[in-house]
Amino acid sequence: MSEIKLNKVIVYGLGAMGRPMARNLKDNGLLIGVKNRTEGKALAISNELDLHEFEDDEDMFSQADCVLTCVAADDDLKAVVSNFIDYLQPGSAVIDCSTVSPNTARTLADDLASKGISFLDAPVSGGVEGANKGSLSIMVGAERDQYKRASEVFSAIGSQITHMGRVGQGQATKAVNQIMVAGVAQAVCSTLAMAENCNLDMKKTLEVLSAGAAGNWFLDNRGKTMVNNEFKTGFKLSLLLKDLKICQSTAAEMGVKLPLIDDSITDYAKLMDMAHGEEDISALIRLKRQLFKNTENSKDE
Ligand code: NAP
Repeated sequence: MSEIKLNKVIVYGLGAMGRPMARNLKDNGLLIGVKNRTEGKALAISNELDLHEFEDDEDMFSQADCVLTCVAADDDLKAVVSNFIDYLQPGSAVIDCSTVSPNTARTLADDLASKGISFLDAPVSGGVEGANKGSLSIMVGAERDQYKRASEVFSAIGSQITHMGRVGQGQATKAVNQIMVAGVAQAVCSTLAMAENCNLDMKKTLEVLSAGAAGNWFLDNRGKTMVNNEFKTGFKLSLLLKDLKICQSTAAEMGVKLPLIDDSITDYAKLMDMAHGEEDISALIRLKRQLFKNTENSKDE
């Protein structure tokens, strides 16, 4: 069974990431159905992609050889898996593209294994832009034969696909990735807030910083918008806060506290309290600007 490639996929979770994944799987002839907590979203995608109408969930899941999940957080993933675990056939696989803790991945893998179902943790990076283009970077934790069996599914949604080791190692990779994402955001937001307070020409400043050793993706893609006080596009800060809590608990299991994680959690929790949870993570500059508010050059937002 494990020699046969997965090619009858259901996408469960049609948020900002799951919707484009479903479209790309359909374009590659691999999608048979979709499912979402809010049913209207599933109906809309089902109509858009002209998918087969199943009698009910049991009918749909029992015909799949793979469920690709992409939901918000650990408890949500546990809830959705419990909705279909009894319908999936032994020999099928669950590929989870949500960002959850390595422990949740291992626990679900054990639960599913008891029913003869494989589990692959496959968190992604590349944002909604990458999901739309089918160019996500996918970090996979799985047995090698399962990883190979899922290769066509991964190729339909991503361009950089890396087998990181056994179940849980994909999520561990994502956790360290998110520490760096938070660190770069801290560096860029602090820098640009200070540059503004130095009364620098911000257009020239962005060009100079991008061209030299300080240059980075976040600066290139979010620098201009954050200077213009625009925080609508990109990666919701509520999701980064959730991810950083995973990073914090993963470090705590090693007996370590990383100040970068703890400080970023404090900052993003503050932004949530200020009702900015739906904004891009570059909204962190709001807090960095406040640090300069009592200085000589300060300008109120
Ligand atoms: P999103 O747009 O907020 O969508 C979340 C999805 O999860 C929706 O389909 C939602 O269903 C479902 N959901 C939430 N709670 C649920 C529950 N209790 N039971 C069942 N379904 C539930 O999030 P997203 O941006 O697609 O992100 C999905 C995952 O990918 C997250 O783990 C995120 O960290 C990760 N990720 C996101 C990005 C990004 O740039 N957005 C990048 C990399 C990784 P409803 O429609 O019913 O609310």
